Amino acid sequence: MVFSVFEWELHSWDEIRDLIPRLRAVILPVGSVEQHSYHLSLATDTVGAYRISKEVAKHFGGSILVLPPIYYGVSEHHMDFPGTITISSETLLRLVCEIADSLKRHGIRTLIIINGHGGNIGVLSEAVRKLRFEYGMNALLINPWELILDVIEETLESDVWGHACEFETSVALVENPKLVRLDKIVDPKLRRLGKYFDLKSKNRVVYPWRTKDFTDTGALGYPSKASKEKGEKLFSAMVERTVEAIEEFLKIVG
Ligand SMILES: [Zn+2]
Repeated sequence: MVFSVFEWELHSWDEIRDLIPRLRAVILPVGSVEQHSYHLSLATDTVGAYRISKEVAKHFGGSILVLPPIYYGVSEHHMDFPGTITISSETLLRLVCEIADSLKRHGIRTLIIINGHGGNIGVLSEAVRKLRFEYGMNALLINPWELILDVIEETLESDVWGHACEFETSVALVENPKLVRLDKIVDPKLRRLGKYFDLKSKNRVVYPWRTKDFTDTGALGYPSKASKEKGEKLFSAMVERTVEAIEEFLKIVG
């Protein structure tokens, strides 16, 4: 009997062998173990990327499976806060490439990375470039929040968002409400470094900031404005647009 589940690792090897011919892609969720202020868990990014990945896979009727997530990410900038575990860009790049190489050896040509953590974007962009040009695979990186910037703008009350904020806390209330400590929500005192250093500035320098340069609690933005209703709107928009982006991608790569 073949499980009708999307989680790669819950299958047996012969089930995967039988599924491979009709697989159009495999999703690799990538997150982080890092501080998310007082009210969200260290697991927030990985839980989120994994939740979105599984919701997205449901839309493809078994033709896309989801790999176990990479739990750790590049989080050096959060290391001033206890509990954060960081791995280097080199380690993450190598991990993604070696996972992709195993897939390729089993005949899978298309890997889609769904990323839950801003600090991973640089290295994951390099990873998909490498997978395409050096490994000959079809590779795509999706940072789901980047697909819904218009929805974020119309949904949020705060103009500053980025980490353990109105956006991320609202979405966490949908993705895993048990991990949100409502009684510990507190807005940070945010520090402005300069107009070219603002996280939301369209004209900004590339500066390797540490989170504590901007915030006392670890949050970048105002979690007190979060709600489950906002979270539902944001979460379903991320799922819907990620599905759309994958459909477009699969048309491009065939
Ligand atoms: Zn996060």
